[in-house]
Amino acid sequence: MNHDHSKLICDISELTALFTDTGNLDSLLQKIVEMIALHMSADVCSIYLYYENTNELLLKATRGLAPDSVGKVRLKLGEGLTGKALMELRPVCEGDASANPAFRHFTGIGEEKFCSFLAVPILRGQSRIGAMTLQSEKKNYFTPEHVNIFRAVTSQLANTIEMAKLLMSLEQPAAVEKTVVAAQSALKFIKGRSGAEGFAIGEGVVVALPTLESLAMNGVHKTLTLKDLHAAVLETENQLKSLQQAIETKLFDVASLIFSAQILMLKDQAMLGAMEDLVNNGVSPQDAVREVVTSYVARFNRMTNAFLREKQFDVIDVGRRLMENLTGKHDREDQYARKIVIARELLPSDALKLSSQGVLGIVILSGGVTSHVAVLARSINIPLIVAEERGLLNIPAGTMILLDGEQGNIYVNPADDVVKTFKEKETARKDAGNIAAQVKVKTFTRDGAAVTLMANINLLGDLAVAKEYKAEGVGLYRTEFPFIVRSDFPTEEEQYVIYAKLVETMKGLPITFRTLDVGGDKILSYYDNVKEPNPFLGLRSIRFSLRHKDIFVQQVRAILRAGAISPVQLMFPMISSLDEFHAARTVVVECMEQLEKDGIPHMALPQIGVMIELPSAVEMADDLAREAAFFSVGTNDLIQYMLAVDRTNQNVADLYVPHHPSVLRALKRIADAALKYDRSISVCGDMAHDTRYVSFLIGIGIRSFSLDARYLPRIQERLAAIDLVSAQRFAARLLAMDGLAAIEKELAL
Ligand code: PEP
Ligand code: MG
Repeated sequence: MNHDHSKLICDISELTALFTDTGNLDSLLQKIVEMIALHMSADVCSIYLYYENTNELLLKATRGLAPDSVGKVRLKLGEGLTGKALMELRPVCEGDASANPAFRHFTGIGEEKFCSFLAVPILRGQSRIGAMTLQSEKKNYFTPEHVNIFRAVTSQLANTIEMAKLLMSLEQPAAVEKTVVAAQSALKFIKGRSGAEGFAIGEGVVVALPTLESLAMNGVHKTLTLKDLHAAVLETENQLKSLQQAIETKLFDVASLIFSAQILMLKDQAMLGAMEDLVNNGVSPQDAVREVVTSYVARFNRMTNAFLREKQFDVIDVGRRLMENLTGKHDREDQYARKIVIARELLPSDALKLSSQGVLGIVILSGGVTSHVAVLARSINIPLIVAEERGLLNIPAGTMILLDGEQGNIYVNPADDVVKTFKEKETARKDAGNIAAQVKVKTFTRDGAAVTLMANINLLGDLAVAKEYKAEGVGLYRTEFPFIVRSDFPTEEEQYVIYAKLVETMKGLPITFRTLDVGGDKILSYYDNVKEPNPFLGLRSIRFSLRHKDIFVQQVRAILRAGAISPVQLMFPMISSLDEFHAARTVVVECMEQLEKDGIPHMALPQIGVMIELPSAVEMADDLAREAAFFSVGTNDLIQYMLAVDRTNQNVADLYVPHHPSVLRALKRIADAALKYDRSISVCGDMAHDTRYVSFLIGIGIRSFSLDARYLPRIQERLAAIDLVSAQRFAARLLAMDGLAAIEKELAL
């Protein structure tokens, strides 16, 4: 076996490159087994795929066993050593397999001469995808090092193999759902919700998804042939690749997560073959594309598993692009330039494409993926409003639309004075754009107390503003966003690539990784959770991680590995008790030990902190301060849970009051506990970027803020006007008050 670790990494990349370079999925799996057998110096390497409906593993590719056993050898989950590995979700390694009573012998596949046996499950988050096996003629051949490397390779390939499995399993056509168009209305002003701030004015253009039907009939003036279909496939592939490259520099994490799946889909021989068959039987290429794509969409749509269902959007996306290239509608790349796009809903990849085309603003009607798109829009600086007015979908092309992303307001054919006011506001905002030059590297109060200003990062694209405004580090990296923008759980390897990029970009500045904080409004579309009546009180945040240890472990390992580049801090969201903190910390320690055993580079045990976001954590603040390395106060959730006000519910928005006496007093208790145990404490919720609360927070002893970097200059400016003694007196006055009216008067609200 090749013992050079870097060589292994190169080979893994080579393997994943096959992901895009192979047209046939069977041959992709075959290439994988050939390459691994060679690399691991094994006589046999095989891939088995697992089918939940039959509870069976099926041999899909082998190097070393009889080639005609592919597609024939079947094992029940738990049957044989391979079935056992997958059932128990752990590697099974035998020096003499036939001596193990669990060994299952198949005649005619040429297995007799192989003694040593190693099986590793292929897992995707929580789901079983299949298993990979190695065999050798030599007894006791596989060492713990083989096991570790084989596991690493398997985990790296899980995504690719799963996609291959998915595409292979697809069957026959079904009807496609037609888009329902809403009734037109005379619209002037629409109140929506701001998804991403900013102002934009331009011609509105309605985007309807999916558009395969209309595309098939669009702009074709000649009879198309199989050659045209092949040309369109090639063009589509090239477009996807260049789109991926173009976005990669700006949105590394998103691009690498979204487009690779689409490229593989396009190269799927079964899908393309079905189209070719239809064309060879006299169907026009555009009808063939429509029929095959819609059958795939319908098939995915029927799936009960949310992850599989979500795949339909990738198919739609690829299908649309293919159809456009086929029918010669080549104006796609700039048709939305300088326009305001209105859509029922958009996919994250749509938002990225629109961004690369220079779209000015986006309006979406409430839909399943809106939150993903809003997050993306913020990161790529495109104003976005979520509005429920269906009439917007019937706005005639060319209608002027003004978006006020601060307020969430939409003006249709705005009056001249409205446009003038907004343009003036925009000019003022741009003038303030030179602000970066005035931002100082270090922040001080008027009387010289140092305050640390760090950035909250959702997607790596946010780092640009953080750097521009000289953030002293990342106080909160919301790791869930790479999970949210894609359509399945990212593997350890995929997460590692993103985390490593973050660490490299920050060049040694402090970074605090918050472990996965899903649930509540951060829904993973591919995670089939039971429908929770109160998601904010449900399986959220650290509860989710502790319940799904495998997902948690993969994330922690990826973080610890990225920390080998430069050490990072780690914190857990929504901690409610010391026990929960201990349980989460134990996982980190176990991951460290495992990485150590595996010989994988990783950082030393990081500083581990807690987010204080729950009333229970406030009550336990002293105990948590004693045990944890630092506190980070998530005021968004703290307010929500202290006051029992859903932070996303417009109906009770007026009751969501950061300066409620109970919240102010809780903040004081949290700060006191941290200071008592000499722990650092930072505020990372939205209160940290509200200039009105800066004095209070300084007054109770907070010296570190982590905020959306766009707000950094104004907070730095505010701090420069504050002195400690006045801030302490101000905080004391507020803390002594018991009613909102008095507090609001003091805060000049
Ligand atoms: C918070 O709750 O204040 C916080 C920073 O976490 P999030 O907004 O991501 O829930
Ligand atoms: Mg929170």
